Amino acid sequence: MHSGQIIKALSGFYYVEEDGVIYQCKASGKFRKNDQKPLVGDFCEFSIENETEGYIRQLQVRRNELVRPPICNIDQALLVFSAKEPDMNTLLLDRFLVLIEHLHIDPIICISKMDLVDNDEIKNMMEPYQKAGYRVYYLSSKENHGIEELKHLFQDKVTVITGQSGVGKSSLLNALDIHLNIDTNEISKALGRGKHTTRHVELLKMYGGYVADTPGFSSLELNMEPIDLAKSFHDFEELSQGCKFRGCLHDSEPGCLVKEAIENGQISKERYEHYLMFLKESKLLKERKYG
Ligand code: GDP
Ligand code: ZN
Repeated sequence: MHSGQIIKALSGFYYVEEDGVIYQCKASGKFRKNDQKPLVGDFCEFSIENETEGYIRQLQVRRNELVRPPICNIDQALLVFSAKEPDMNTLLLDRFLVLIEHLHIDPIICISKMDLVDNDEIKNMMEPYQKAGYRVYYLSSKENHGIEELKHLFQDKVTVITGQSGVGKSSLLNALDIHLNIDTNEISKALGRGKHTTRHVELLKMYGGYVADTPGFSSLELNMEPIDLAKSFHDFEELSQGCKFRGCLHDSEPGCLVKEAIENGQISKERYEHYLMFLKESKLLKERKYG
């Protein structure tokens, strides 16, 4: 039996890579009865018929799964935000971070268009995130600053690129010489409206790793349990081991170490305020769902 990773799905065929060789595979009969269908990103066992064709027999357990684009086993997300035009928005950043962390994807924050701003102002704004352990890269695609440093991040990883419309994703990809099959503007326009139907999803080999050819996270709804929201703030989660109550949501519970950490400046007050807004939202969603 061979084993590899599905890097493309098109017209009923799955393209599976093993040691740099790509096999055109069909899903074996059992997947027709099965609920679980192969997805781009799946690690699988497959049998071969000849030098180029085969059948997928078995899928390995997935680390995570995105619905749109349909892809799994994502290692990291390049999260693009612009310093200006549009202005840096930490509320939206925290929302993206929650969604990414909830899926056990490692976020890499990229602040684009640094040529348009005073560096110190943005770096101060980002300090709480660096303190919380997030990787932050500052760049300008226009002036080709900080681009080279990004290239080594792709090695051996599956990366999705995301960020709202106009932040400079296309410009960054051009600067990185990554050419997606789908125009990121096309996605932005269709965002959440279901107009855009992806013809196919593909992982592109770039800098020793793979990049999804479609930007991720088309919906920014925080559709998760309040406790999972709390866990998705990983800096809070580390502290919460010491909270008085198990399952503390760091809201009005007494003996909460997260709230203590805000008092003594260890955690950013702004990030905590965003958390409380999300907590409300996730509780409301839950009520709507379960009545
Ligand atoms: P996307 O919608 O996220 O793909 O964003 P684009 O790459 O299309 O960029 C949106 C606008 O921002 C365009 O007018 C770009 O020229 C501009 N832009 C992108 N990167 C930079 C940059 O590094 N510096 C400056 N000054 N403008 C940029
Ligand atoms: Zn707490």
